Amino acid sequence: MEIKRGIAVSPGVAIGPALVLDSEWFRIPQRVIPPSQIDHECQRLRQALAQAAAETRANQEAVSAKLGPQYGAIFAAHALMLTDPTLVQEIEALVRTNHFAVEYAVSRVIRRYAKALESIEGGYLADRVADLFDIEKRILRHLLGQRREQLRDLREPVIVLAHDLTPSETAALDPQRVHAFATEAGGRASHTAIVAGVLNIPAVVGLGPFITDVSGGDRVIVDGHHGLLIIDPDEETLHRYEQVQASFRSQASQLAELRSLPAQTRDGVRVLLLGNIEFPQESGPCLEHGAEGVGLYRTEFLYLGRQTHPTEAEHLEAYLTVLRTMGPQRPVVIRTLDLGADKFLPGGSGRRAAPEHNPFLGLRSVRLCLQNLTLFKTQMRAILRASAFGDVRIMFPMISTLLELRQCKMILAEVKEDLEEEGLAFNPRLPVGTMIEVPSAAILAEQLAREVDFFSIGTNDLIQYTLAADRNNETVSTLYSPGDPAVLRLIEHVVRAAAQHNIAVNVCGEMSGDPLYTMLLLGMGIRQLSVTPHSIPAIKRVIRSVTVEESVAVAQEAMRLETARDVNNYLRERTRRILPEVFS
Ligand code: PEP
Ligand code: MG
Repeated sequence: MEIKRGIAVSPGVAIGPALVLDSEWFRIPQRVIPPSQIDHECQRLRQALAQAAAETRANQEAVSAKLGPQYGAIFAAHALMLTDPTLVQEIEALVRTNHFAVEYAVSRVIRRYAKALESIEGGYLADRVADLFDIEKRILRHLLGQRREQLRDLREPVIVLAHDLTPSETAALDPQRVHAFATEAGGRASHTAIVAGVLNIPAVVGLGPFITDVSGGDRVIVDGHHGLLIIDPDEETLHRYEQVQASFRSQASQLAELRSLPAQTRDGVRVLLLGNIEFPQESGPCLEHGAEGVGLYRTEFLYLGRQTHPTEAEHLEAYLTVLRTMGPQRPVVIRTLDLGADKFLPGGSGRRAAPEHNPFLGLRSVRLCLQNLTLFKTQMRAILRASAFGDVRIMFPMISTLLELRQCKMILAEVKEDLEEEGLAFNPRLPVGTMIEVPSAAILAEQLAREVDFFSIGTNDLIQYTLAADRNNETVSTLYSPGDPAVLRLIEHVVRAAAQHNIAVNVCGEMSGDPLYTMLLLGMGIRQLSVTPHSIPAIKRVIRSVTVEESVAVAQEAMRLETARDVNNYLRERTRRILPEVFS
């Protein structure tokens, strides 16, 4: 049994066979073969090894001729390994004694070698580990042909383990088959993590290297509460987790009972609890979890998996689908495209001609829209037209200067004029909001507040830009904390500016869906939260268990603390006192 610690990004527990995806997405099944097939399997192995060795030698010659023999030597070393009699013997022994299918036996033996090399101190053999995986892939390619894994075609439930998954790969996972996932890379507020929450499957990211320790088909547990991946659990652990799984299900059904109750503090203060969605189809589950509207519709997901821009009609249809579910009374905040950075780059429609050196500080989001007015206006037309059918609000992401906001509003005014001329219906008083997710916007909140109807604090980006800590990078995840005093001061400033100008302020980053910060946000004056739908019941439970007075005291004390660690420990302690089960 081996336990790996990472970052918990989507709650729940899943137990099942691992589906290990390497960069080539080979699926290595843990298949047992009948004794009659053993000789045949060994023959397949020898044939694959011979083919792989021949291919490697051919590479050696080609590379030596082109770049010189010293480079060809890399392949010579690979060929030596492929013809090493010990390697064949070890793989065959697993086939003969354990009756493993040969692909699985290859993967077991090579991963054992890799692990042995990795454990040698100094890290100077790390390149040899990469060589081993190269060799493994080469053999598997001959054994499995071009059969790559198609996640869409899965027949049985699996737990996906990968180095990393892009947001689009994650969004394409079928939660009926993929019961959880765990990745070596990734951070708390990465879009991959957000999509996991949407799929409602347990997920852990940022685990660091573990792919060498696990083979496809091995039993694993993903603990999405504590951020653990347990490889090959012992009987006792397995039993314990089966009980945790059962109690999580019963807790979920208890939380579901909160659905029809208002998000109201014990002293009667109402909080508007909204849902974040990425796809129109999520609005149903959003309502089922008890959302009172959509506080953030991330429309860039309309671009998922396509090479052309969505048309105005396609935008409109998506928005009307959300409105049909939400009804005419519930607010639906449609955020204009936030493409770029980690969203659909490379390959999707956010792609630029040349890759940017620093995409998170580059031409992303509203900056991209302001340079592509046709794209921007198409979306604005659809948002305005949808506003004739319900309580639609428009919101601009990544605003970093006042001028940018004014430009957006000017274009919106032009689009309104066009629609008027064309005789198309829309709400002329469409509420306009801005995300506050860049420190400059938070600092200039007073100025921005004069120009909009509402603010929505995007803590995911606000934290990364304030602390200069990439939200996707697990190696800086300790710096990336919503409880950091610098972040809290910015939020406090924004809330004060909104109050002065009498505009609403919402929080829609992942911080708002974490029960740890609910009292703090209430105490800071926040009365609107927009969260991943599955977090709504837990947040509502905290809201219904506290008073505003208690929350103000908590916020005041938290603001006095000097480090993120102190703030988080204090909040954990205070929340646990009121709701022991939240952090049990
Ligand atoms: C945020 O940055 O907090 C946010 C809500 O936007 P996104 O996560 O889509 O960047
Ligand atoms: Mg953002």
